[in-house]
Amino acid sequence: MATTLAVVVGGICSQAANDNRKGRRYARWATRGSTVLYTIEERVILEQTEKPGGLEWQEREWNIGTLKGLRAGTKAAGLIEHGMYADGTLLQNAVHVLVGREEGPVLYIQAAVHGDEVNGVEVLRQIVTGLDPQQLRGVLIVVPVANGPGFVMHQRRHPADREDMNRVWPGKVDGSVSQQTAYNLYQQAIQHAQYVIDLHTASSNTQLHVVYGHNDAGSRALAEVFALDILLEEEVDENLKQFRFQGKLRNMLNEQGIPAITPELGGDNRLEMENVALGVRGVTNVLKYLKMIPGEIVPPDRPQITLHGSHMDGVFAHQGGFWIRQVKGGDRVSQGQTLGHIYSLRTFEVVEVLTAPYNGHILGTTDSPTINLGDSVITICRTD
Ligand SMILES: [Zn+2]
Repeated sequence: MATTLAVVVGGICSQAANDNRKGRRYARWATRGSTVLYTIEERVILEQTEKPGGLEWQEREWNIGTLKGLRAGTKAAGLIEHGMYADGTLLQNAVHVLVGREEGPVLYIQAAVHGDEVNGVEVLRQIVTGLDPQQLRGVLIVVPVANGPGFVMHQRRHPADREDMNRVWPGKVDGSVSQQTAYNLYQQAIQHAQYVIDLHTASSNTQLHVVYGHNDAGSRALAEVFALDILLEEEVDENLKQFRFQGKLRNMLNEQGIPAITPELGGDNRLEMENVALGVRGVTNVLKYLKMIPGEIVPPDRPQITLHGSHMDGVFAHQGGFWIRQVKGGDRVSQGQTLGHIYSLRTFEVVEVLTAPYNGHILGTTDSPTINLGDSVITICRTD
């Protein structure tokens, strides 16, 4: 914004900005003296330069999905459209866009890319309804439910193709329904973003935490200000790739240099308002950190702990049955320590005792006692 704005009095321009891009455009006025006649058209432009966002920001039009021509100082709800199902039902995502009155960064936030992870949905409703675009810098793009069909069916995966929608980014124009949905979300909304938050949940027995990429300082900064107690620095190695970790939105964005984080805000298929409140605090902190809104960042309740590893570190079942756990999220365990057992419904005998494979911090355990062969039962991050 110009530090010296032109003063308009009765069609006379007495002084012009001269210290920024707008100033250079009007430098001819400054150099021609203190009193210059100008046309009506010039006057309109001049008055726009007095708006906080600057002329280019004020004139810029944002096109997000069905929302066309959004300008500074607006809030709107629209759709990302994907086509239709066989019966003619439209497949689309709701999208909310706030274009701030002042220039600033573009932040994209989505929830429920896993359709049963609902806490983030309410986080985003509270964020969007609580923000005034007149008080905002930059642009906030929000998709409250990224996997709509999964959300409708209360399930993690997309029901039409059984895909995990967080393994298909950036999508594929000629791909499956999940891939085309991701492609349209990316092309119409996410590609505008300089920062991304992908809101998830893990299980009610998992400590709330924020995942960010290994050695990624920009994402680490977002993770810190989100202000949960636990940070998980994820390193994608060959072992992790065997778990089909490619195609995560966060990892794809990190490869492009876009800071992105994945907060895990509690359990699946349940609305936990205390976790929603922590999510709202975290997103609000990120908005403050990016200077999109004013205010002090609220610190975490306790000193933050950084864990290293991934959600795939831990213990898997080699027998199916009913799982009785003896540990919970946040426990520290020693190598060989008993974590719980699985008993058979055929005999009621214990068929597997799960033990800690190394010294570690228990990030969480599965919510369900119903365990199948091959299920990830407990996530343990190494502590040595
Ligand atoms: Zn998830």
